[in-house]
Amino acid sequence: MKDTDKTKSQQLMELEEHYGAHNYHPLPVVLSRGKDIYVWDVEGKQYFDFLSSYSAVNQGHCHPRIVKVLKDQADRLCLTSRAFYNDALCEYEKFMHEYFGYDRVLPMNTGAEGVETALKLARRWGAVKKGIPNDRIKVICCEGNFHGRTVTVITMSNDPSSYANYGPLTPGFIRIPYNDTEALRCALDEHGNEVCAFIAEPIQGEAGVFVPDDGYLKTCYDLCHQHNVLFIADEVQTGIARTGRMLCSEHDDIRPDIVVLGKALGGGVLPVSACLADDEIMLNIRPGEHGSTFGGFPLAARVAVEALKVVRDEHLVENAERMGEIFRREVRKIKSEAILEVRGRGLLNAIVTRPVKGRTAWDICLSMKDKGLLAKPTHDHIIRFAPPLTITEEALMQAIAIIRETFEEQ
Ligand SMILES: *Cc1c(COP(=O)(O)O)cnc(C)c1O
Repeated sequence: MKDTDKTKSQQLMELEEHYGAHNYHPLPVVLSRGKDIYVWDVEGKQYFDFLSSYSAVNQGHCHPRIVKVLKDQADRLCLTSRAFYNDALCEYEKFMHEYFGYDRVLPMNTGAEGVETALKLARRWGAVKKGIPNDRIKVICCEGNFHGRTVTVITMSNDPSSYANYGPLTPGFIRIPYNDTEALRCALDEHGNEVCAFIAEPIQGEAGVFVPDDGYLKTCYDLCHQHNVLFIADEVQTGIARTGRMLCSEHDDIRPDIVVLGKALGGGVLPVSACLADDEIMLNIRPGEHGSTFGGFPLAARVAVEALKVVRDEHLVENAERMGEIFRREVRKIKSEAILEVRGRGLLNAIVTRPVKGRTAWDICLSMKDKGLLAKPTHDHIIRFAPPLTITEEALMQAIAIIRETFEEQ
């Protein structure tokens, strides 16, 4: 085929194939524009975005208020590093304190860095406050977790595609089954005096939107406190209204000792992550002992404040809760042998599929793409459905019609 016979999309995909590292397997669609719940490809075709960049676009694409703050700040001051004070970070810190009710915030950029920071805070607290010998400190994590891609963070993973052949990994982790309070009880009974923290996702997103039993987080939290162990909630994907609560931990009425935020904290325009904690934990790290050149940079600080204001002003917690109920109710009505289960909370949902006549979750996603809806399989047979939280009931029903048509056409 001559280059001139190829579509624009084909040409662009070939460029990436040729010059980019092959660490992703994208759906074959090349996007060039986004607005609220919609994205458009280079040929001008419109799609519902039902991935929302893994929940980083909760406020919708190119939200006018967030983009305006970004542009205004970009014209004034973008980056100072933390070698100097600036007039944006301090206001962001105060805002975060008032918004989430923790004493302090430690700003970083990506979710993985936020998790790394939480682990450092916990280990430091374990050494300084709990008095665990530093070479014996342990963190308990869960099977099926996804906390990011750095070497220490992949050490927690039990998915070989995350950790295999990246060794040697980081010592000091104990992995137990998720949604199993007895496993946590046993691990704490055995190792409690050397454990500084337990880290979990309130819902396991990458594992396929695995929702634990009601009360699971609460029991874990109580067990941790009986053993003087910190509870770290990785809310990078579940936080900021996604599951119909500002933090997913609220579903179980717990206040984690450390909360990790990321993704939607950047309003869909910048990588912004953070750890929230109280003085007793946060103040054990002193000047020069942790940091990031970009962490909390003025642009990020302003964007994060506006991103959180939009969530509140547009009632995205309530909308996620209500639209999520409609989504699950309507999708459960679809008659298809390919659907094994529909699960989720708020607007973090998944359909667990089973291959019918050799048609995989990937094939279903391709077919939905052709009909104008973008979603991505996770773990081969599970499809996640997570539109921006701004979606209206009318748009949601149109999207569900596409999903229904796709599943009913085998
Ligand atoms: C996406 C994600 C991360 C990692 O965030 P990055 O910004 O990709 O580093 C960490 N934890 C959870 C639960 C996530 O979903």
